Amino acid sequence: MNTYTCATCATAVPRHEAALRSVAFRQVAYCRPCFEELMAVVVPSPRVAADDLIHPEAV
Ligand SMILES: [Zn+2]
Repeated sequence: MNTYTCATCATAVPRHEAALRSVAFRQVAYCRPCFEELMAVVVPSPRVAADDLIHPEAV
């Protein structure tokens, strides 16, 4: 009986499959595909910054 409603696509998500986040002091639920899409957008690629360490002679 415990289901959440995905905040992105409004699909009913079973509790054990829902990904929960706290947004502005409210608990927001996402279905798995929407949550992964959301994380892909929020988390930047970590590889870019490392490039600066490879060229010490440029200093
Ligand atoms: Zn969704």
